[in-house]
This record gives sequence, C-alpha cells and structure tokens, in this order.
Amino acid sequence: MPYDHRKTVRRTLVLALAATGCCAVLAGCATSQASPPGGRPRDVPGHPGRERGAVPSAVRLSSAVPGPSRSSAPARGSGSLAGRTIVIDPGHNSGNFRHSAEINKKVDIGTNRKECDTTGTSTNAGYTEAAFTLDVSHRLRELLTARGAEVVLTHDGERPWGPCIDERARIGNAARADAVVSVHADGSAVGNRGFHVILPAKVRAGTADTTKIVGPSRTLGERIADRFAHATGTSPANYIGDGTGLDVRNDLGGLNLSTVPKVFVECGNMRDPKDARLLTSAAWRQKAAQGLADGIATYLKG
Ligand SMILES: [Zn+2]
Repeated sequence: MPYDHRKTVRRTLVLALAATGCCAVLAGCATSQASPPGGRPRDVPGHPGRERGAVPSAVRLSSAVPGPSRSSAPARGSGSLAGRTIVIDPGHNSGNFRHSAEINKKVDIGTNRKECDTTGTSTNAGYTEAAFTLDVSHRLRELLTARGAEVVLTHDGERPWGPCIDERARIGNAARADAVVSVHADGSAVGNRGFHVILPAKVRAGTADTTKIVGPSRTLGERIADRFAHATGTSPANYIGDGTGLDVRNDLGGLNLSTVPKVFVECGNMRDPKDARLLTSAAWRQKAAQGLADGIATYLKG
C-alpha cells in the first residue's frame, strides 16, 4: 500500500542543539578512520555499541537537520492500529562509515557516556547492517501503516550519519509512541545463529529512568519474539538468552533514555554464513518485517 512519506522537517538550530548536545547538529567535524563506502565496516565486538574512544568535538554549525520521518495510512482512522503511534528505529546509518569523528563523540546515556552511534556490522560479503535495518524498517512501516498506525522513523537515510542514540530515544519519547522497535542484526561468531530481542533493564541514573517501561517493554519483546519466530521460521538465538530469544541490557542509551515501551531486535547474525543467507534475502526480510508487525500488533491489542 502506498504511504504518505512526508518530507523531513527542518528544525531550528537552537532547538536541535538543545535537544542533542552532540555532533548530530554540527558540520565540520573532523572525519577520520572511516571505511570507504561499500567497504567492509569495522567489526563491533559486543554489538550494539560498546564503548570506544572519544574524539575531538566539532566547531562549526549546521543550519538544518532532518527530523524524523512520519507516515500514516491514507485511510486514517481505520484499521486495527488506528490511533496508535509506532516509532521504528533503523539501527545505524550507511553514512556512519564516513563520519567516524561525529559518531564517536560521546553522549550521556544516564549510566555513563557512550559514543553517539556505531557503524554496525555487515555480512562477510559486505552487506551492511545499516542497509538491512533500513530495508526491514521500510517493510515494517508499510505493514503498520496498512493497519492504520501512524509510523515515525528515527531516520530514513536522508541524513549523512546518525542520529545519535540519545536523539533516537528522544524521537520515540517526543512522539509519545505506543511502542518503539529498534531494528538491528548482530555481528557475532560463526555458528552463533538466530534472533533475540533486547529489553531495557531497570535503570535509574542521571537522566535515565526506565522504571515505568521495563514491564511493558518486556511484554512487547515477548510478543515480538513469539511472532518473529512464527513468521520467519527461525529460532531464538543459540548464543544468548538461554533459548528464550530475550536479553536484558543496561548499557544501551536507546533503551536507557526511553520513556516509552521500547526494544531492540537483533534479527540474526550477519557474520554467520547461514544466517547471512537469510538476512540478504528480500523474501526473508519481508517475513522478518511481518513478524515484527505481528508482534507489535499483538502487544498493542493487549
Ligand atoms: Zn546494530
């Protein structure tokens, strides 16, 4: 079904600076260490987003920053998800490889400071996680808008890098989303296979307080894990979560800073050849999106 893809929204510089406090709104950041476009990205042990070193901050300002992308069904007000707002967060950004300085700048995630964003992983043949997450997110958006939901993407490939993880969280919060799903694929060892859903731990530190979202996020994650397995025919991860398809983390800014129910979904392991065959299949990605949509819908229907 066609959807109304609104153009990105320009924000004022003042608002953007206040909102992000990071290089997301700054141009002229030094760029270094970036892999060439299309090249094999750096592997990210412990994906997503363990700590790496800080980098120099930027000095010049950009006058406009793309905002989140909103879409809703043409027949608004109808469908099983009418009146619901769902934020989809495509993990990483294909441009991150060319913006090492910007994405390595640290942001506050409540429990500590962590790099703005990461490049993500890829298959051994070079299919990037960022390309995967955006593709699945587009498929998921179409399925959800067809059911009447309003859908917001944290980015839609329109910005050169990012958003930073704290901004990704704020987009979900500002939308007062009924559910937020951050789409990822893992970069683990060969033989490690399957999907898992990452749930927010109870965190109260600095600006982070997940107290109110731990419960509903777990329910959201359980629904997604169940429906994802059903739709894709794949199994919960054999290397994390003890076969439940669920993991809990307190080190992800995108979860720590969320005030609305949110989970990350690691759809498979890009570094495992068998999983990679699935992840690189458009037909499988459609099944993955279907599983995510079904899980979200099941959760929202109570
Ligand atoms: Zn990722």
